[in-house]
Amino acid sequence: MTTIKLHDKYFKPFISAQEIDSAIARMVDEVSNDIGDEIPVFVGILNGSFMVVSDFVKKYPKPCEVTFIKLASYEGVKSTEDIQRLIGLTQNLSGRTVVILEDIIDTGNTLAEVHRIFKNENVKALKIATLFYKPEAYKKDYKLHYIGIEIPNKFIVGYGLDYDGLGRNIPEVYQIKETQHMTNLVLFGPPGAGKGTQANFLKEKYNLVHISTGDVFRFNIKNETALGMIAKSYIDKGELVPDQVTIDMLEAEVEKNADAKGFIFDGFPRTDAQAKALDALMERKDSQINAMIALEVDDEVLVERLLKRGETSGRTDDADESIIRHRIKQYYNKTAVLKEFYSEKDKYFGVDGVGSIEDINIRISNLIDGF
Ligand code: AMP
Repeated sequence: MTTIKLHDKYFKPFISAQEIDSAIARMVDEVSNDIGDEIPVFVGILNGSFMVVSDFVKKYPKPCEVTFIKLASYEGVKSTEDIQRLIGLTQNLSGRTVVILEDIIDTGNTLAEVHRIFKNENVKALKIATLFYKPEAYKKDYKLHYIGIEIPNKFIVGYGLDYDGLGRNIPEVYQIKETQHMTNLVLFGPPGAGKGTQANFLKEKYNLVHISTGDVFRFNIKNETALGMIAKSYIDKGELVPDQVTIDMLEAEVEKNADAKGFIFDGFPRTDAQAKALDALMERKDSQINAMIALEVDDEVLVERLLKRGETSGRTDDADESIIRHRIKQYYNKTAVLKEFYSEKDKYFGVDGVGSIEDINIRISNLIDGF
């Protein structure tokens, strides 16, 4: 099971067909034990309940009757407050034990309508069974006699449930993704490889948010924040800022851009711990890193480029050749292991970082367009 797209929205796998099947089997046991030899009338509420009713009654071990009533209650993602009237109840149910079979109960509005309808039917007993139940959303007091699976208050599709008409036929259940589809790139390469330059171009072209950890640190140093003070002591020596400080800062930057279509991470991750933290962060956002794009440039070219940049950038760590060489060494010592980290996931893409800025642009775009 992988992510699916219905209309404009993405959904991730949530409940498997097998889990649904065992939940229904358990509900059937509970209901049949309670009802005994009496012949119940199972009433499904259309449209959503057709799958659960079908699977439920196939498992029901004794004689039973099945009927449906209909009400159109949900449009799109939000449940509408204003529920349409139930239609289709033509049978005389007085004196019968009725079990309502619902696919899902969230606010309980549909249930209110069910109770209103059955108030005058003189049934012997009215029981409510629902496959899915959202306790956080439920606003009513009606008793739910049989519950299959409790779920959080998030939009789901599949197994009878739809998003604007689509998804009812899917045999398992999918949950809406926290964040919709994102393109997340890690720009990788030793200091001076041209990551910043390329990131500026890529963020425009692909409408991504560029996060350069080096830039964020320098901004903090300039503004003399507490974070800046900590970072400065490492940066001036060409050392890496400690992982936890860097990871916390990066997460805060990502959270500031909750609606981003994706990110370009530039200068992050630089260690194994950072790469793992980034994966975990992406997972929490129902997303992932699509690729690490590594600019490959020879050491001597790097030193030359950085010394040249130091003449105008004002960066203390660009002014001194031994600090520059130390930074490059740091890169190979700590950061190059990331090549392995992403290669193992088939997400490492090396790009020749020597040539004109435009040529390198084109090389990277060709890669991204192929994802
Ligand atoms: P950069 O602008 O990416 O070359 O980063 C400049 C300096 O900021 C580095 O030499 C580190 O001291 C610090 N820095 C930037 N990103 C990180 C990171 N991901 N982890 C640790 N230190 C970092």
